[in-house]
This record gives sequence, structure tokens and C-alpha cells, in this order.
Amino acid sequence: MELKHKEKEALWQTFFEQHAYLKETGGWHLSLERLLGEALTPVAFPPKESWQELTKDGLPLLQHEDLLPCVAAAAAGRLDGALSLVLGSQDIETPEEMHQSLTDLRAFAANQEAATALFTALLQQDDAAIRRLAAEHGLQETSLRLFGWAVIDVLVPAEAKDAAVWEEAGWTRNYCPVCGRQPVMAVLRKEQHGRARFLVCDGCHTVWPYARVGCVYCGNQDLKKMKILEPEGEEAMRLDVCEECHAYLKTYQGCKQINQAAPDGPDECEEIYRHDWATLHLDLAGQEQGLVKRGSALLAAAPGPDEGEEK
Ligand SMILES: [Zn+2]
Ligand SMILES: [Zn+2]
Repeated sequence: MELKHKEKEALWQTFFEQHAYLKETGGWHLSLERLLGEALTPVAFPPKESWQELTKDGLPLLQHEDLLPCVAAAAAGRLDGALSLVLGSQDIETPEEMHQSLTDLRAFAANQEAATALFTALLQQDDAAIRRLAAEHGLQETSLRLFGWAVIDVLVPAEAKDAAVWEEAGWTRNYCPVCGRQPVMAVLRKEQHGRARFLVCDGCHTVWPYARVGCVYCGNQDLKKMKILEPEGEEAMRLDVCEECHAYLKTYQGCKQINQAAPDGPDECEEIYRHDWATLHLDLAGQEQGLVKRGSALLAAAPGPDEGEEK
């Protein structure tokens, strides 16, 4: 369901009225998304008809050896322009600390070779290489991941992010068919027979179908080792917790008031909740329970040498 710009604005406004503490950070993310979306054009992907064949053995589109260097080079080539736009725009209020990180990143962006290596490392989820590049060039790792993935995100054509494409292609794996990242959250959508689960990528924001039950991270199917947490005051979301790998998955279950009228597919509010930052308060709730967040584009895929539980 395509919403008109005005209706979308109104939904966001209501959301921020209910979640005032998210207004500043959320507003910044939305402005970033909009600015980059307006300034950058997606790279040319192979024809849509070939995607099923290209991914049938489990290799995501961007991991193909002809597409990965092409996207990494395109991202590197546009990094400086994207940064100067964000740093110079009146339409986005960048917090001081972030402003400094992005200024540092801009100095780095002049070095095309290093910038290409950075995007290659991001796309390959090569955490060691990302850490090394950040250390060598004095960059803040989180800002680099955040901005880097924001650029990659807009370079992926919108039609590749559509769940319908991946349903048709038969992609049912627990990682993104476009970039290969683990999902950051799930959404439940009404279908003819009950509800179906879809996973959401925090890197390129592709949505794809996945089995309705079980842990998406470790594959645990034992329902006795799964539980659901329903945080107070946020009826639209729940946390699916796996007691096998101690991860939680934020799951959007629909907004009640709107769901009644919604046809099949995503309801009006889903797009809001598909932004990971829109439910940061639920991540805090998860952390309080000692649970692990996975799939965030801001975090390393695996715990670093200092963060791991075991030696
Ligand atoms: Zn992705
Ligand atoms: Zn698990």
C-alpha cells in the first residue's frame, strides 16, 4: 500500500508524539535517509528475472564477484559528495559529536582506494578489516558503519527490497538475499491463512519471507526454548526470545487501530517500525534481561576479542 507523502508525515508525527524521546535521533535518521535518497541514484543491478537463479545456491546478490566491487566502488565514489551534502545541509541537525565523526570521515573519503576497501569490508562483513581501517585512519567505527550502510542502502534499487520478489524467488534463508546480513527484526503480515513472518535487513532494508516459528539466528525449533516478551506500552511490537542462543528478535505484530482496515501485506505503520531506532527502548528492555541483539548495522557481526564471553 503506497501512502501519500502527507499521510506518511501524519503517521510519523503521531509516532513522535507518543515517543517524544526518539524525536531527536529519529528525526536525524529520517533526514539522512531523505537527503541521501534524493542525492544518490541506485546502481544498475542484473535484470530482476535473473535474481532467482543468481541466489538459488544461497549466495546473496551483492556477494557475487561482479556486483560487490561495482557497489563498493560506486559507494566510495559517492561518499565525499554524500558527506558534504549532509554536513552542509540546513535541513538536518547533526549532533556535535556525529558532526565531528562525519568531518573525519570526509577527510578519509578523498582516498578512493581506502574508501573502496572500507565498503568492501562492510559488504563482506569483515569486522577485523573494518576495525583496522577505523584505527588506521582515526575514524569512529560506529559512525563509519552507520554512514557507510546508509550509502549502500540507497544504492540498492527499491525493487530488490520488496518481499514479494523474494517470496516468488523462493528465498527462505535466515540472511538477507541482497547483502547477506542477519536480520535485525521481523514483521508479521496478514495473509489469507493467518499471518506470515518476514525478516528485515538493517543494512539495505530488504524484507524477505521466513518460517513462522523458531529462532532465526540459531535455528532452534524447540518451542519450549522460545518465549515471547510483550513490553508494556508498545502493543505493536514483541520480543521473540531464544533460550538456546540468548538472542531476541523484535517483531512487529501490527497496529491495532489500523490493522482492521488493512488488506493483505504491510499495514500503514509497518514502515515506521521497520526502522531499528524506532524501538530502541525495546533494545534496552532486551539488554536488561541479559539478551543479545543481532543484525544491527552498527554492531560487529560477532563479538570482538574483548567482548566475547569465552576465551
Ligand atoms: Zn541486506
Ligand atoms: Zn536461537
